[in-house]
Amino acid sequence: MEDISKTMQEMMSKRHLNHNYRQLMDQAFADPEVTAFIQTNQADLAEDVLARSASKIYEFVTERDKVRQGGQTFAAGYEPRLIVANHLLDVAYVPTAATMEKQAQQQLQRRVRAIAMPKDIRNAELDNFDNDNDRMEALMAATEFIDNYENSPHHRHQALYLSGSFGVGKTYLLAAVANQLAADGFSSTLVHFPSFAVEMKNAIAKNGVGDKLDAIKKAPILMIDDIGADAMSAWVRDDVLGVILEYRMQEELPTFFSSNFSMAQLENEHLRISTRGDDEPLKAQRLMQRIRFLAREIVMVGANRRPQ
Ligand code: ADP
Ligand code: MG
Repeated sequence: MEDISKTMQEMMSKRHLNHNYRQLMDQAFADPEVTAFIQTNQADLAEDVLARSASKIYEFVTERDKVRQGGQTFAAGYEPRLIVANHLLDVAYVPTAATMEKQAQQQLQRRVRAIAMPKDIRNAELDNFDNDNDRMEALMAATEFIDNYENSPHHRHQALYLSGSFGVGKTYLLAAVANQLAADGFSSTLVHFPSFAVEMKNAIAKNGVGDKLDAIKKAPILMIDDIGADAMSAWVRDDVLGVILEYRMQEELPTFFSSNFSMAQLENEHLRISTRGDDEPLKAQRLMQRIRFLAREIVMVGANRRPQ
């Protein structure tokens, strides 16, 4: 920013600008916000405050007008405010309402960690969730979870396993729950499970499995989206999913699921058969026990909401 007091001195020393300076200062001194501020704080201000704080008054008025006209002060997103300092006036720069709103929004978004999820989940809101009869049960269960969790975040709360066909709004509902929790100050992690499985396989070569697994395992609230959408190798099933669920069960950490499969189908048609074709009913059973401990099944029916 230009040094305003220096500028003013220069202005004053040049005779022909003296008149301009007077005019500018007269305007600044007469500014309603300035006069109101001086009046309110009269008791704290020096007698000769006008003369000694002239450059600050000028700075305040010009910078404020810049913001009013849609421009920026030297610090984008901040606006000037008059304050009293040592019995004189000074200008403090505070975030504008728009900046505060943006910061709050960013804070919210940081509370929803999304891994390989579509971008539009940011906009999912419980208020916009169509609560026709088909979806009522899921919506009620979701709001019940939120209430219970927020009342006692450190106790065990069974989350939901949303099952139902493609496009009924399972992912939308999970995202809406995460966004509501974020608005209330709680963090969650949403992970598109098939993509995460691929990421984990790629991480083997880079020795990155442990860290990636840890982050998911320990998320305060985890939402595993689209489990069962892709064939799972025995390694992903037992050493990734199994490990995550085991930990979360022990620690009683809320864990949601969404799937095109019902729980029964997931067990018998998906988890049981490894990609190599081996039939492993016991392993499937063990995994399902953990899933059932963590979440209760809600079947979502209804029309495909995806734009055709
Ligand atoms: P699923 O995960 O069950 O396959 P999605 O949650 O991806 O379905 O929903 C499909 C599409 O419909 C998405 O574009 C989503 O934004 C939209 N959608 C789903 N449910 C609703 C809803 N209740 N209200 C508004 N839009 C919805
Ligand atoms: Mg989905």
